[in-house]
Amino acid sequence: MPYASVVLDIPTRALDAAFDYAVPSELAADAVVGATVLVTFANRAAVGYVVAVRDEPSAGVAPEKIRAVEQVLAPSAFDDVAARVAAWMAREYACPPAEAVRPFLAPGQKVRVTRAADDAPWELQTERTGAVDDRWAALTPAANDYEPVRSASRQRAVIEALRQGPQRVAELSATIPGAAAAVTALAKRGVVDVTHRRRVRGTDDTTLSSAAAPRPERLTDGQLAALDAIERARTVGRGDVVLVDGVTGSGKTEVYLAAIERALADGRGALVLVPEISLTAQTVGRFRSRFGDEVAVLHSRLSAGERFDQWDLVRSGRARVVVGARSALFAPLADPGLIIIDEEHEGSYKQDKSPRYHAREVAAELARARGAALVLGSATPSLESLARCRAGEFRGVRWTRVEMRERPGGARLPEVTVADMAEQFRGGGRSVFSAPLADALLDVARRREKAVLLLNRRGFANFLMCRECGCVPECPHCSCALTYHERGHRLVCHSCGRSWPVRAFPDPTTSCPNCGSRYLAAYGVGTQRVEDELRMLLPDHVEVIRMDADSTRAKGAHQELLERFDAAECAVLVGTQMIAKGLDFPEVTLVGVINADTVLKLPDFRAAERTYDLLEQVAGRAGRGERPGRVIVQTYWASHPAIRAVAAHDRAVFLDAELAERAGASYPPFSRLANVTVWGRAEKDVRAVTDELAAALRARLGDAAGWEVLGPADCLRARAKDQFRRHVMVKAPADADLGGLLGSCAASIPRRRGINMAVDVDAYDM
Ligand code: ADP
Ligand code: ZN
Ligand code: ZN
Repeated sequence: MPYASVVLDIPTRALDAAFDYAVPSELAADAVVGATVLVTFANRAAVGYVVAVRDEPSAGVAPEKIRAVEQVLAPSAFDDVAARVAAWMAREYACPPAEAVRPFLAPGQKVRVTRAADDAPWELQTERTGAVDDRWAALTPAANDYEPVRSASRQRAVIEALRQGPQRVAELSATIPGAAAAVTALAKRGVVDVTHRRRVRGTDDTTLSSAAAPRPERLTDGQLAALDAIERARTVGRGDVVLVDGVTGSGKTEVYLAAIERALADGRGALVLVPEISLTAQTVGRFRSRFGDEVAVLHSRLSAGERFDQWDLVRSGRARVVVGARSALFAPLADPGLIIIDEEHEGSYKQDKSPRYHAREVAAELARARGAALVLGSATPSLESLARCRAGEFRGVRWTRVEMRERPGGARLPEVTVADMAEQFRGGGRSVFSAPLADALLDVARRREKAVLLLNRRGFANFLMCRECGCVPECPHCSCALTYHERGHRLVCHSCGRSWPVRAFPDPTTSCPNCGSRYLAAYGVGTQRVEDELRMLLPDHVEVIRMDADSTRAKGAHQELLERFDAAECAVLVGTQMIAKGLDFPEVTLVGVINADTVLKLPDFRAAERTYDLLEQVAGRAGRGERPGRVIVQTYWASHPAIRAVAAHDRAVFLDAELAERAGASYPPFSRLANVTVWGRAEKDVRAVTDELAAALRARLGDAAGWEVLGPADCLRARAKDQFRRHVMVKAPADADLGGLLGSCAASIPRRRGINMAVDVDAYDM
């Protein structure tokens, strides 16, 4: 009898092993790897997923003790390769195996089961709303001889339309009033055949014919070199990685398209990941115009039903190109020759709930398991990827970097000006706009052009800043900004937990410890303030459009605002980070960054990298058309390498300084970093758990080289929704099995009611 190894999905218990169940012969065809099954565990019904099927039970388990699989609830959603990748994820990210399996399941499938009656079979609950059948009309041979009566003009129009081929009745009705009745009448006469077809949801609304990308006549040398490296990696077939390091507009997407074309020709498929925010109709349209119905699209803005239909296109083999956000990685594509991650440096590739995986790392594992090539693309690659390319190898596969520095059209790079806001302040400037930015905006108004203003919303932490010198007090041990805590009147480091009593801060009548200035203030302005000042500064003919979380809450609002900006003759678009990516308006001649450094002040070792990435992104938005572009960056920290590198168009200025800093403080990519957050209402229990965890980790590690336990310390937001939050961080050598250690230490801490714990390996937000 075969035995199924089943991972149980029991919400209240974190089970870290798979369990054996016997497969009765009548279920053998269905209880295969990837199936969702019903079993009994601890005398209760439980839902589980089959991750392996073997002839013998696991060692040490007596066959007569083994219960049988009771029912198959859902057909196979993944294969054994995917099951192995899920097991790798569970260990790598220290999460329960069932949570690592869930991303591979069919969209909309829930863990809960119900049944109609006591003796009826169980059914899985689903979020999917009913699938839709469309009525399709097609002409029959009888149509050739049929002559509608003179008055039946609608019938005539319907027949005419159907001569082009079968059509959806709903579509006919859109252009021919009363078409549905005419179709019914024609069907009665045997002239038209009406059939019902299941609609593939999620396909229509993303098709944009205007986005059709013409195939370039020839690829540039840079593109050919990139394509060559990708082909080589794909042929080797062991998960080798190619980093396409190319400036915005250098033609990376064109490289992906060409590489996919070759993979398809070899009978293989491709997974393409794009950040959720840039997964626009424009992007999808480019892939559809090249690969048509071979493309399935997966992202979180689709309904569960739409996601299911797109997923099913992949599972059934009808679509071999999957374009999607982070989770598209788990689509059931049988044989991907390529896995492509565009904008690989994006923080959004790290999932912030369990399983807390990074798409780049899972993609690398998946590429290895499937014998595919992994292609990473970015204008500002992550330091992790750059470091691996410098080493030439990581975890046993080759990492190769290909550079593309030129734009095919030869568009010029924009001129970048840095406006020192501390200097502006000392000169009497109190506006959110520096003199150079105000002048440039007036020029845009005069010339009837367009401008984009970026307001950095991240990093509005509760720190204080000197308006005259830009100084923010830092932790001498972690070199990250200290935040002010009213309770106890202290400055606190959220990395190591050290704190200092405040004397100078936050009393505004005392002075800056650095320069003696009396202007100490909480830092930050909102989009509304920028909008108001813009309206005062600019003449009436300039349209001012604000795009932030508030103005884009309604469905479709985002697209609407962009269309307004596109249609305007002269306009300024003010927005948060969401405007930085994917925007491609050739008429934008000015990009202003209101506050380049709010992120720099975050207590986060990636602060400088994030700032650099963002500034490079926005700088890439200027001057894509005929007219040259200008970028003005306002900052209190003009001497920072990230700012200087953007101004000089020289990434090395940033990279060299940043890598030296990371190496010195032993931060990634020179180490790995995990963050364990504990939260709950009872502060005493939260403290006890974090203390015990830190002690357990320290006891386990002793003085192992390259390992360090930091904290426990209060979280940056120590109180959220009446919950108290505290964390412990662990630094480990770059090649360490961090997940394995954390998983076992976390499991050894006694559980307390109402206290939650999240283990985040390779954490992004701390
Ligand atoms: P990226 O993805 O690096 O931003 P794209 O692939 O979107 O760059 O290319 C930028 C623009 O250049 C697009 O309009 C694209 O159609 C065009 N383009 C790309 N490659 C070529 C080429 N070899 N010849 C001419 N135009 C090209
Ligand atoms: Zn100062
Ligand atoms: Zn510190």
